[in-house]
Amino acid sequence: MYSYHVHSTLSDGKHTPEEIVKAAIEAGLVALGFSDHGFTDGDLSYCMQDEDAYIREINRLKEAYAGQIQLYRGVEEDALCPRQREKFEYIIGSCHYIVKDGKLLPIDSSPECFEQCLLLFDGDPVALAQSYYQNFCAYICRRKPDIIGHFDLITKYDEPDKRLFLENPQYTAVAETYVLKALQSGCIFEVNTGAIARGLRTAPYPQENLLYILRKHNVPIILSSDSHQADTLTFRFDETKRYLKDIGFQKQTVLLDNAFREIDL
Ligand SMILES: [Zn+2]
Ligand SMILES: [Zn+2]
Repeated sequence: MYSYHVHSTLSDGKHTPEEIVKAAIEAGLVALGFSDHGFTDGDLSYCMQDEDAYIREINRLKEAYAGQIQLYRGVEEDALCPRQREKFEYIIGSCHYIVKDGKLLPIDSSPECFEQCLLLFDGDPVALAQSYYQNFCAYICRRKPDIIGHFDLITKYDEPDKRLFLENPQYTAVAETYVLKALQSGCIFEVNTGAIARGLRTAPYPQENLLYILRKHNVPIILSSDSHQADTLTFRFDETKRYLKDIGFQKQTVLLDNAFREIDL
């Protein structure tokens, strides 16, 4: 088992990096990557404040637990605030905000905040999606992060009635157009079970139709739990592997011996 999208107390996670390492060893993980939220201008509520302290702590753990588990020093950077690439062993590039008319609103912090995002577009989910994906894909193509984080995060709260996005053909057309742009970057797409762990969704990001497109284009994928606590490091990975095999995927990407490589699912 492997897990590379993991948050600790050094950003908005519940457990310290060392508690997470111990839990990972206990659970039999071969490799574990930390990806705390990179410093984000304009929203200090959830991100790391002292990047150097984070780097020191992960480096200390890499040494202390060498021989027991492979540890990696990643970061989840927001599209708004890219970090210094050399400081990290990999970058997960994510988009957590809507930016419009000088306003910056998180898309995923609460259903209430999502409603405010929607109001910026006069309640039109397709216009919201268009803006979100346009910004995100511009960042992806320019920056080429190693891994694209939760590509369709805007659908986080939509699953109960699927009213705005998941059963809206206009939205589907927008999302499919942009996933085709994003996959040209050559980046690895994550299949992220984080919202399932939080009880908000039953399926991982990205949505199934987007996964079929990724499969058709032979895009590399990586399993992610987006874990914010030590007991969800590989949340629903077994079920997700079966789901991905049903879609036609045969390989998953892992970071092992300091390189990304594809292994059997
Ligand atoms: Zn994220
Ligand atoms: Zn995350």
